[in-house]
Amino acid sequence: LASRTRKPLTHYAATFINSFIRYPYSPFLVHLIVTRRCNLECGYCTEYDKISPPVPKERILQSLRKLEELHAYAVAMTGGEPTLHPHLPEIIRFASDSIPHVSLITNGFFLTRELIESLNEAGLDRLQISLDGVKPTQTTQKVLRNTAERIELLAAHATFDVHINAVLGSCPLEETLEVLDFVSDLGLEATVQWMHDENGHFLNPRQIGKMEISRMAKAARRPRMYSKSVIRAGLNDQKSWKCRAGSRYLYVDEFSIVRYCAQARNLWQCPVDEINPELLKQNFYTPKPCVLGCTLGCVRNVSSYDIHRKQ
Ligand code: SF4
Ligand code: SF4
Repeated sequence: LASRTRKPLTHYAATFINSFIRYPYSPFLVHLIVTRRCNLECGYCTEYDKISPPVPKERILQSLRKLEELHAYAVAMTGGEPTLHPHLPEIIRFASDSIPHVSLITNGFFLTRELIESLNEAGLDRLQISLDGVKPTQTTQKVLRNTAERIELLAAHATFDVHINAVLGSCPLEETLEVLDFVSDLGLEATVQWMHDENGHFLNPRQIGKMEISRMAKAARRPRMYSKSVIRAGLNDQKSWKCRAGSRYLYVDEFSIVRYCAQARNLWQCPVDEINPELLKQNFYTPKPCVLGCTLGCVRNVSSYDIHRKQ
């Protein structure tokens, strides 16, 4: 298979602006579940099982065709653990031909140099790993001690962007700082997000306050952005906001059913093959009853572009 060349930054900017202007209700981001199964059992997670088979490749390709037809800007393959899918590079290659930005959200446990190179060749744009801390606990194995070597492999061999997300409050603040230091020393991008419960609501079991956040912000690469967005998303923000789930953001589950998001799976649903521009428009204007205290960073980010449009 021929290797893909890295897309220039102008490609992302141009396609994003195009989506924003020409398709005012189309998805900026779609989370596509490629398998519900996961190799780990994080204590707080409600998004995995131990038995589901991978979603059939043809079914995923059909969903991707539909997302292209809806002019989706970005798709993120997720799970469960998406690297358990036996056809992942092939799926990413197909997605890369039809969707401007393709990413992968993984716990990183199965990353090898060979897999990284096949993801390079497939045209992956970005890979994200969330880390809960440094040392394993009863609740989580998603920690630096288990994944540092794989992150170093990524820094050495990935041609796609690598993004590490440190989960705030899941471990002592010192461990979050150690994760940020490690990532920053490798020259990779890192952000920080709050923990949330099964309803997407902000959790702060360690009572982290503004002082600790500004200390952490100094350790990060983009301190101002960090402290503002992290504080806003947790400590200060219990205000209403315009959630554009079902329009600017879609969650496609393992049965190819579209939901608002992983945390509000019962509020609305529609088979992916039946989604149409009229439904996207309807969802864009529908206020969601669960906005108060919702910390789902991806949905909040993509919803923020339309902040001045009515709902
Ligand atoms: S690795 Fe991710 S999907 Fe798997 S159990 Fe942990 S949080 Fe859930
Ligand atoms: S406010 Fe939006 S993102 Fe948050 S739980 Fe509700 S539907 Fe999901």
